Amino acid sequence: MSRKADVVIIGAGVIGAATAYELARKGYKTLNIDKLPAAGYGPTSASCAIVRAHYSSWDGVAMAYEGFFYWKDWADYLGVEDESGLAKYMNCGTLLLESQTGHHEKVLKHYRDVGVEYEEWSPEQLKERMPIFDTHAFYPPKRPDDPHFWDQSEDELMGAIYTPGSGYVNDPQLASHNLQRAAEARGGEFLYRRKVTAINQADGKVTGVTLDDGSEIEAGIVVNVAGPHSFVINRMAGVEDGMKIKTKALRHEVHHVPSPPGFDYEKDGHHVSDGDNAIYFRPETGNHILIGSEDPDCDPQVWVENPDDFNRQVTREQWEAQVYRCARRIPSLPIPEEMKGVVDLYDCSDDWIPIYDRSDLGGFYMAVGTSGNQFKNGPVVGHCMAELIDAVEKGHDHDSDPVKVTARYTGVELDMGFYSRLREINENSSFSVNG
Ligand SMILES: Cc1cc2nc3c(=O)[nH]c(=O)nc-3n(C[C@H](O)[C@H](O)[C@H](O)COP(=O)(O)OP(=O)(O)OC[C@H]3O[C@@H](n4cnc5c(N)ncnc54)[C@H](O)[C@@H]3O)c2cc1C
Repeated sequence: MSRKADVVIIGAGVIGAATAYELARKGYKTLNIDKLPAAGYGPTSASCAIVRAHYSSWDGVAMAYEGFFYWKDWADYLGVEDESGLAKYMNCGTLLLESQTGHHEKVLKHYRDVGVEYEEWSPEQLKERMPIFDTHAFYPPKRPDDPHFWDQSEDELMGAIYTPGSGYVNDPQLASHNLQRAAEARGGEFLYRRKVTAINQADGKVTGVTLDDGSEIEAGIVVNVAGPHSFVINRMAGVEDGMKIKTKALRHEVHHVPSPPGFDYEKDGHHVSDGDNAIYFRPETGNHILIGSEDPDCDPQVWVENPDDFNRQVTREQWEAQVYRCARRIPSLPIPEEMKGVVDLYDCSDDWIPIYDRSDLGGFYMAVGTSGNQFKNGPVVGHCMAELIDAVEKGHDHDSDPVKVTARYTGVELDMGFYSRLREINENSSFSVNG
């Protein structure tokens, strides 16, 4: 006998689990299916889980700012106990270094419009507050094998923008588990170690999914939240040709190094977005620093055709690129011989802005293309997807009259048309992890 649900959600990462919780709050009977053994075990578990608001667009800033409040209010938002404990919001603040990328100029206008709290630091204030930093400008980013990589620069950074409300979540996998428990308390179910192999449909409408053991689940609504496998699922459903913006998987390395001697980066450091140097870094447990890349043009981009088959080992070349760049900003940074880090995939959209939308197949929705920058928005996206799905299922024509969602904490209006699969490429995007 086949199993039934109102909604099948493919994936139980942070957004899949949040979508389940929000739909369950509305009374839908949800079933998340994930091929891995537990919630958040895929790319979500490799996430740096940085919570910051500096996106290129008003919409990006408004959604991320809304996210701050979910993480600060985590226990109350969930409204359940989790036997594994709750993920913690580490409110370390963010420094966005002002650079020749010009990203800070776009961001500042949106901070003022949305009401994000910020301080502008002069180069002198930056030096005073972060004495371990070299505040010279190194732009444009280079590879360590460039003969000019270590050249001393005469130029100074223009300053920095500090947002006290931002930070990171200490355990992104646990945050997903917390959302699972919250969804279950509202009747949601989760099925692990099962892979979706077909999207079943009849008369232009989805009817459910088939799993790798041959069983079928009947559901009138199916949501693709499959992360870097999003394009695989969209092709399975036959909806990719109906999308102007598409998704593909990009390999990404993150590295861990100890703090400089005499400075407790875990306690006293900030999350730093260093566009001048094409890296971002943040405090990490064990008085470590975690370093990610902003994927500058000089670095090779590794697009992955098969998301089940890619190199999960940290490579010497990329370790040196990211860690040495960080050592330029923090000259006393120890550089261990042993490389430590994680490697996973971003689910990138063509313009590095997500697709939160319906599809041309009735009842088939997607929350995809999260482009390495949507962990922070997980719960906000869950709320938006639930509102969008509910409205469309009740007959709303989202393609011609995009659903607007009133944000739960900040009260701003989030226009879901911004995330449409039918949009033109957003040329205002940073075309990077900054969105
Ligand atoms: C290295 C790295 C660093 C990042 N850092 C940040 C950051 O600092 N801040 C930030 O905001 N964001 C960051 N991100 C992005 C963020 O982690 C993602 O946007 C977010 O985790 C996406 O969650 P998700 O629920 O959509 O998907 P995922 O976590 O990708 O989960 C998708 C799930 O779908 C399952 N699945 C796929 N296909 C099938 C199938 N056929 N059948 C069953 N299950 C299937 C997978 O097993 C997986 O568990 C980072 C991402 C990476 C990779």
